[in-house]
Order: sequence, then C-alpha cells, then structure tokens
Amino acid sequence: MEIHEEGACSACISTLFLFLNHYHEELSRYRLEDGKVRIVVGKNKNRIQEEAIRIGNCALESKGRGISVRGCPPVCSQILNKLLGK
Ligand code: SF4
Repeated sequence: MEIHEEGACSACISTLFLFLNHYHEELSRYRLEDGKVRIVVGKNKNRIQEEAIRIGNCALESKGRGISVRGCPPVCSQILNKLLGK
C-alpha cells in the first residue's frame, strides 16, 4: 500500500483508515504492476500523476489518472461502490 497524504483533514484520514480496516481486500484488484495499491488523499495537487485511487474532493483536484471518489469527506460506502463500479 502506498498512501500519499498531504494536508488532509482528520475526516478524510478517518474514512480512509476505516475503509482499509474493513474493505482492504477489495483493493487487491487495483494492484499496479509493482504490486502496490496507490492511494492519494488530501491536497497533493498535481504531485501524484500516476494511476491512483483518489479519496475526497481535495485529491480530485489533482490531475492524475485513476479512480476518483467524491465527497468531503466521502463515506466508506461511497469508496466501496466506486471500486465495485456501482
Ligand atoms: S475532501 Fe474535505 S474532508 Fe477530505 S481533506 Fe479535503 S476538505 Fe478535508
């Protein structure tokens, strides 16, 4: 797991930890070639352009590739639904 966090509120961090605690197995299909799952949370604006799962509205402002989950903060079910393509 590669987590890039910068300037994230405790609300987004809490959601992310809660999600990882309960649903980390759902992330296995999002492994990159190096075997890692990359997650971006907070105000990493444009720093992480590589493919990543971007959690929360602040992370969506970055221009990188990957999956984006809206919300301020998003709730776990929103992240799960996005990952499951619902
Ligand atoms: S999306 Fe909202 S809760 Fe998450 S880091 Fe940004 S301001 Fe904070």
